[in-house]
Amino acid sequence: MPLFNLFQGRADTNRKKKHAKNSYLKQSFKKSLGNGVNLKDAVKCPPGEDRDEWIVMNTMEVYNNTTLCWQFVSEVCNEKTCPTMSAGSTFSYLWKDKGKYPKPTNVPAAEYVELLTLWVSEKLDDETIFPTSGKFPREFMPTVENIWKRLVRIYFHIYYHHWNTVSAVKAEAHINTCFKHLYYFSKEFHLVKDDDMAPIGDVQRKIDS
Ligand SMILES: [Zn+2]
Repeated sequence: MPLFNLFQGRADTNRKKKHAKNSYLKQSFKKSLGNGVNLKDAVKCPPGEDRDEWIVMNTMEVYNNTTLCWQFVSEVCNEKTCPTMSAGSTFSYLWKDKGKYPKPTNVPAAEYVELLTLWVSEKLDDETIFPTSGKFPREFMPTVENIWKRLVRIYFHIYYHHWNTVSAVKAEAHINTCFKHLYYFSKEFHLVKDDDMAPIGDVQRKIDS
């Protein structure tokens, strides 16, 4: 089974109904992987395709993959084990949204991930930001960048705090591949700034070990 189509999220389902092109792009992405093309090349926008549509498709894919990766560790992450959304002792993240937490607030990692996945799902379903026809609005790219910047934190948390659980269920290769997809795509389209990728060192060591 291809790694990149294991989980169908709500946002993906909604858009797919309207976006025939997306499924074509997805096929082309999977075909590239199936042909042994490495991820660095597979993330490149196929010639003649729309760059923004390619970014939308990959954003949905990364969102769905991340949600699935989280399921491997969600049962062992709670407010006692992880009272803060963190990556080791150096990096921690506060949650902020327009609803319950208008000011940056410390929440347990599990709640952070729940709030984050809901927030991304709502953004992807928002026609004013991700229109299913016509031009993409000005806030499209800033929203995409914000989504990727926040999603990568879920991987950081998994790598830093729950790698034993990942190893126990032998999900390392799956999570590494999903992370590399995020990483190379983000590099290709400059989505996550270097500062926001700062915890990458430990991730690299886990991938290489
Ligand atoms: Zn945790």
